[in-house]
Amino acid sequence: MNDSRYDAIIVGSGMGGGTLARALTTQGKHVLLLERGGWLPREPANWDTEQVFQRGRYGVTEQWVDGIAGKPFTPGEHYNVGGKTKLYGAALFAARDMNGLPVGLGRQAAYYQQAKRWYHVHYEPHAPVIARISDVFTGAGFRPEPAPIGTIPQQCIMCDKCDGFACPLHARRTPKPAASNQPWIRGCARCGPASRSPGCTATTPA
Ligand SMILES: Cc1cc2nc3c(=O)[nH]c(=O)nc-3n(C[C@H](O)[C@H](O)[C@H](O)COP(=O)(O)OP(=O)(O)OC[C@H]3O[C@@H](n4cnc5c(N)ncnc54)[C@H](O)[C@@H]3O)c2cc1C
Repeated sequence: MNDSRYDAIIVGSGMGGGTLARALTTQGKHVLLLERGGWLPREPANWDTEQVFQRGRYGVTEQWVDGIAGKPFTPGEHYNVGGKTKLYGAALFAARDMNGLPVGLGRQAAYYQQAKRWYHVHYEPHAPVIARISDVFTGAGFRPEPAPIGTIPQQCIMCDKCDGFACPLHARRTPKPAASNQPWIRGCARCGPASRSPGCTATTPA
């Protein structure tokens, strides 16, 4: 691979990598996005609780080791195009205290405004049951607010299968490069797009 053609090579197409790819390609940079996973299938099992949570249909099967107790566990990771934004709850709160970052609060606010536009962050009215709970909190002197969410109102039917499920309606706003002609390669950053090393769990090399 001749990587001198790229201004940046990004590993992973999730919220982090995908957003960075969009930011750079918006500025005209040439970006190679490496993604180890394949496309999530659109199928009835997307909304099947047993398949999703009991059988872990879209999760990883590999084992990691707890660095403190030394115990193996299966992490809540998802290796697919779009990363966890294809299955997450799409609640996109702005961080209130990010003082550890190398950019000041003013710049952070500007970035968040940009991210809000890209992820279509907006507020939906409470569902009736939540509205009743909200009223109870308001009556007790609290100030409950709807969660900011990054869904596409025209496609979202406000079902009860969001957090953790792959949306078959593609109603979540997920990250993607600004220029669709930018190269994507499905493969593993460790093994390369067309090879598979022993021990590597990349499943869909290009
Ligand atoms: C069920 C669930 C619900 C959630 N709900 C919310 C929510 O409502 N609001 C919220 O703010 N957050 C939520 N989160 C957390 C949020 O989804 C994550 O914090 C966020 O998506 C992490 O983004 P990321 O880019 O760091 O990682 P990911 O989105 O996981 O992306 C990493 C990408 O890198 C790829 N990759 C990994 N290794 C390699 C390699 N060697 N080579 C090539 N590619 C590789 C992976 O396949 C993946 O696509 C939720 C998470 C889960 C699991």
